[in-house]
Amino acid sequence: MKITAEVVNGNCPTCSELTMLVGLANDVYRCMNCGSDLHQHINGKISYLPIMPARADGGKPFVKEWK
Ligand SMILES: [Zn+2]
Repeated sequence: MKITAEVVNGNCPTCSELTMLVGLANDVYRCMNCGSDLHQHINGKISYLPIMPARADGGKPFVKEWK
């Protein structure tokens, strides 16, 4: 059985790198550089926004390094 994942090049907003993004679900991609999950937005041009749960304390989202 062949498993195919959609891999695209994109500019990750979390690590600010032009890197490979692997498609996980509908419009959800994961950055291969920092491991952030991104949501793909297409309006005129393709852009990616990090998926971050809103924090109750209003603090800056913490991006975990994936090893
Ligand atoms: Zn990244």
